[in-house]
Amino acid sequence: MLQTHPSPPSDFIREIIEEHIKTNRFQGLVATRFPPEPNGYLHIGHAKSVCLNFGIAAQYGGTCNLRMDDTDPSGETREYVDSIIRDVKWLGFDWQNRLFYASDYYEQLYQFAVHLIETGKAYVCSLSAEEIREHRGTLTEPGQESPYRNRSVEENLDLFKRMRAGEFEDGAHVLRARIDMGSPNITLRDPVLYRIKRTPHYRVGMKWCIYPMYDFAHCLSDSIEKITHSICTLEFENNRPLYDWLLDELKVEYHPQQIEFARLNLSYTVLSKRRLIELVEGGYVNGWDDPRMPTLAGMRRRGYTPGAIQNFCERIGVAKNDSIIDMALLDHCVREDLNERAKRVMGVLRPLRLVIDNYPEGKVEALECPHHPQNPGMGSRETPFSKILYIEQDDFHENPPKKYNRLGPGREVRLRYGYIIKYASMVKDERTGEIAEVHCTYDPKTKNSSPPDGRKVEGVVHWVSAEHSLPAEVRLYERLFNVPNPLGEKEDFLKFLNPKSLETISTCRVETSLKDATPGSRYQFERLGYFCVDLKDSSPGRPVFNRIVTLRDSWVKVSGVK
Ligand code: ATP
Ligand code: MG
Repeated sequence: MLQTHPSPPSDFIREIIEEHIKTNRFQGLVATRFPPEPNGYLHIGHAKSVCLNFGIAAQYGGTCNLRMDDTDPSGETREYVDSIIRDVKWLGFDWQNRLFYASDYYEQLYQFAVHLIETGKAYVCSLSAEEIREHRGTLTEPGQESPYRNRSVEENLDLFKRMRAGEFEDGAHVLRARIDMGSPNITLRDPVLYRIKRTPHYRVGMKWCIYPMYDFAHCLSDSIEKITHSICTLEFENNRPLYDWLLDELKVEYHPQQIEFARLNLSYTVLSKRRLIELVEGGYVNGWDDPRMPTLAGMRRRGYTPGAIQNFCERIGVAKNDSIIDMALLDHCVREDLNERAKRVMGVLRPLRLVIDNYPEGKVEALECPHHPQNPGMGSRETPFSKILYIEQDDFHENPPKKYNRLGPGREVRLRYGYIIKYASMVKDERTGEIAEVHCTYDPKTKNSSPPDGRKVEGVVHWVSAEHSLPAEVRLYERLFNVPNPLGEKEDFLKFLNPKSLETISTCRVETSLKDATPGSRYQFERLGYFCVDLKDSSPGRPVFNRIVTLRDSWVKVSGVK
C-alpha cells in the first residue's frame, strides 16, 4: 500500500516553494514539468523526478506538464516518446491535456535568437568545435574571445538566416551568446546556442537544419509554458546563471525559478540512458523491458508495482548532495507492497517426486488453502492433494546438515495446509546416483491440524500434486552487475556484468489454480518469493513467471526498519 502522510515530509524544494507562495512570487501558483528527452526509455532515476514534479504540483494545487525535450534530432524517436507516455501513466500520474513538445517551439525559439542578435547579445561564430574548445580556457585561466565576436548585427542576422536556410555544412557556423569569456563560470563563456545539424528529426523531418542547444531551449520552453519552478538535477547548477541571463536579456514575461537536487544513483545498476542503450544494443540484456533493467518498462515486466516505486521515491527524499541508494531499499519497498496484496500459491521450482505409500491410489482430496494467512478477506482456493506429489529437491536431504528443518531419513515434516508425512524410503537413479523419488507415509489425523499426541515436526514444506499441477517456466533474477558502482570502477562497466543475473528454469510445476493467471498478475509462491506472470512470453496452460523479489529482507536487517 502506498503510504499516505497527513503532511508529506518537507524538503528544501518544498521549503522554497512554500516561501514563494507566502511572498506571492508567482501569484501563489505552482506549475512544474517533467521534461524527458525522448532518446531512451525512462529509468528509476526519472521516476524520482516524475514523483517529485507531479507530487509537488498535486500537493500545492498546481499543474505539472509532460514535455518532450526533443531538441536534438539524433537518437530521438517516436518509440521513445510512446514509451515515456506509457511509463509516466503507469506510474500513476496524469498531465491531462498538457503534453508538450519543445519541437513545437522551434519557430518561437528562432525568433528569440534573432532578438538576441538584434540586441548585440548573440553572434555567429565560425570557429570549429575544436577551436571553440581551445578558446574556452580552464577553471584557472580565462577564455579568449572569438575573432568573430564583433561581427555586425546585420552580418550576424544574415548568416543566421542562411544557417537556417541550409546554406552551410554541419559545423561551419554556430550561434553563440555574447556574455563574458573571462567569467569564472565556464558556462557563461559565450556558450553555443544553435548548431547546424542536417539530421532528420522524428517529428519535423527536414524542416529545420539548425537546432537549439539544451540551455537555450530549456529555459525558454519553461517560460513559454509559464512554469514557476524548474526542478532539475545537480549537474545543471552551473547552468543556472545562463538560464537566468537568457530570460533576463530576452525580457520574457515569465521567469521560472530553477532549483537543483541530487540525482538518484542506485547500487548494482547504472542509471544513464547512454549506458542503458549500450546494454540493449550490445545484446547484454533482452531489450529495454528486460526485467533486469532499471527501466520502468523492465520493472513493470518484472512485476514491481507503481505504488512500491512511488513509496521508494518518497522515502529516499530529495537532497543537495549525491549519494548511492542501496538497491535493498527498493527491494524492501516492493516486498512491503506485495506482502499485503499478493495472493499466496504453491509452486515447485525444481521438482522431486514424493510418493505417499499409504495414501489410496486414485484418491484426490481438495485442500482448502487461504490466499493470505493474515487476511481472510482475500479468500481461499481448493488445491488438489493426491498420492504422488512434487516437493522441492532441496527440501529433502539424505544426510541433513545441522539446522536443516526439512525432510530427511527418519524425519517428519508438514505439507503446507495438508498432512504430516514421515520418511519411508528413497529411490536413486542407477546411472547418476541422484535421488529420483522419496517415499513417505502420511498421518491421516493431522489434516491441517496439530497431531493429537502433540509431537513436533521438523518444519513445513510446500508441494503440488503431480497429476494436477501445470508445467511452468520460472525466471530468477540477480543483480545486473556484481559491483555496487559499476561506473565508478577503473575498467569498462560491461566487465562487471553479473553472468548469473538470469537463471531460467523450465521444468517447474505450479498449482492448477494458476491455469488462468493473467499476464501481469502477481503472487507469492510460498517460501520462494514474489512472482509475476510475464507480460510477453506467458501463454494459457504454460505460464512463465518472473521472480520479482525473494522473501528475505536484507534491508530490514541493515536498517532496522520495521
Ligand atoms: P540520463 O543521464 O539517464 O541520460 P538525462 O538527465 O539525460 O538522463 P532526461 O531525459 O534529460 O535524461 O531527464 C529528464 C528529467 O529527469 C530531467 O529533469 C532530469 O534531471 C531527470 N533525471 C534524469 N536522471 C535522473 C536521476 N538519476 N535522478 C533524478 N532525476 C533524474
Ligand atoms: Mg538530459
